Parts: sequence; C-alpha cells; structure tokens
Amino acid sequence: MKLILLGPPGAGKGTQARRLVDTHEIPQLSTGDMLRAAVSAGTELGQMAKAVMDRGDLVSDDIIVGMIAERIDQPDCVNGFILDGFPRSEAQAAALDIMLSERSIALDHVIEMRVDDEALVERLAGRYTCAECGAGYHDRFQVPQVESVCDNCGGREFKRRDDDNETTVRSRLTVYHDQTAPLLPYYRAKGVLRHVDGMAEIDVVTAQIGAILNGGK
Ligand code: ADP
Ligand code: ADP
Ligand code: ZN
Repeated sequence: MKLILLGPPGAGKGTQARRLVDTHEIPQLSTGDMLRAAVSAGTELGQMAKAVMDRGDLVSDDIIVGMIAERIDQPDCVNGFILDGFPRSEAQAAALDIMLSERSIALDHVIEMRVDDEALVERLAGRYTCAECGAGYHDRFQVPQVESVCDNCGGREFKRRDDDNETTVRSRLTVYHDQTAPLLPYYRAKGVLRHVDGMAEIDVVTAQIGAILNGGK
C-alpha cells in the first residue's frame, strides 16, 4: 500500500501514520523526522535546515526530494510506505510522480486530514513526544496512562519541538495554505484523493482511515 497523509501541521498525520506502521507493517516516511535527525546529528544539512524549520518555512525541494528518493529504494519499502509530510509543494508532487513512474509504482490513496486552524494551534502548543521511542502525546488530548511514563516503552523523558511555539505555528499554517493545499486539487484530478474528519477523536480518525484502506478506491 502506497499512501500519502496530507494535512496541515498538527492534523494528526504522525499519530495515524504510527498506527498504520503497526497494523499494515509498512514504514512511515516522515521528512520532518528525517530533517530533525539531521539537526540532532549536527550535519551540514541539519544546520541549514534548523534555521528554515525555526522560521516555519519549507526546506528546499531538491534536498527533500533527494531524501525521499533514497528512502523509497530501501528494502523495507517494497510492500509500500506511508508518506507523512511529503509532498508539501507542487514541485515536490511533480518530482514524486516522476520517481514513482520510473519505478512503476502507483499511489493507492492520498488521504486529506481536515482540521480547523484554531484547533491546530492548540494541538501543536500541547504536543510532546517520548524522548526514547518517539511516541506522540498531548497535554490534554493524549496523555500517558501512567503520568509521566511512556505507554509504549516505559521511558520517563519527554521532549517538545522548538517550532511548536505559536509564532512559528502561524507561519507554518500560512505556508500550508499557500504551498501545500494546492496539492488537493492536483490529487483530486488524479482520482486518488479521499478525506477524513481530522477533528474527530484519534480512534475515530483511525477507523475512518481504515474504512478507506479496506474499501478499495
Ligand atoms: P502532525 O504529524 O500532522 O503534525 P501529530 O500526529 O503530531 O500531527 O498530532 C499533533 C498533536 O495533536 C499531538 O500532540 C497529538 O497527540 C494530537 N492529536 C493527534 N490527533 C488528534 C485528534 N484526532 N484529536 C486530538 N488531538 C490529536
Ligand atoms: P508537522 O508534523 O507539524 O506537519 P513536520 O515534522 O512534517 O511538521 O515538518 C517540520 C518542518 O520540517 C516543516 O515546518 C519544514 O520546515 C520542514 N519540512 C518537513 N517536511 C518538509 C517537506 N516535505 N518540504 C519542505 N520542508 C519540510
Ligand atoms: Zn517511549
């Protein structure tokens, strides 16, 4: 299954992608995670990307497309993958089309996750993850079962993203509406676009995605 989860920052792409990794045994390809790994490793790319991410802008298409092209050729992608946070611009979508057609791969679904801007600001302000395993949480909407202990790995250290402050979030939302939302008509015209109500509770969104994946096109 080759899937794109498309939606604004905070829509729940990462949350749902991690569930699909478990249920469908295909990898989550998150360009945001790849960039944050480069930032932590302190590579030249990471240093450059950090400044762009802190502003809430997009990292250059060439760099991002190169990262994804390398990633989809890894053996764990043979049965499919979930693209999370890519493509984010028309140039990236065009590059992805070429990449897929060169490999005779077809996209099964592009799922739009619809969430209001004000809800997104609240979600990102309360977002944190386990420092050990990356499991995602929220101060109000997704708290660990035992306070301060990760449900997934038992870890007790958590972290928040530098770019989840309100100023950067507002810029990211503007970038989404200007540069990423135009991909919706692009994929609608190809007949692969579906949507879910991303405002619903996490389990309900999972069920909506499951219905799309099980229902065929
Ligand atoms: P994205 O990857 O699209 O940026 P995340 O999956 O990281 O979004 O979710 C953003 C924040 O909102 C996280 O803290 C997550 O726990 C929370 N969240 C995700 N889905 C929902 C939902 N349906 N309702 C409420 N909160 C949610
Ligand atoms: P979110 O989960 O909030 O949607 P991501 O983790 O996907 O955010 O991305 C964080 C930041 O990394 C973005 O604001 C952007 O600066 C950069 N980034 C991630 N994916 C891309 C991409 N496909 N193209 C350009 N920049 C990207
Ligand atoms: Zn954990």
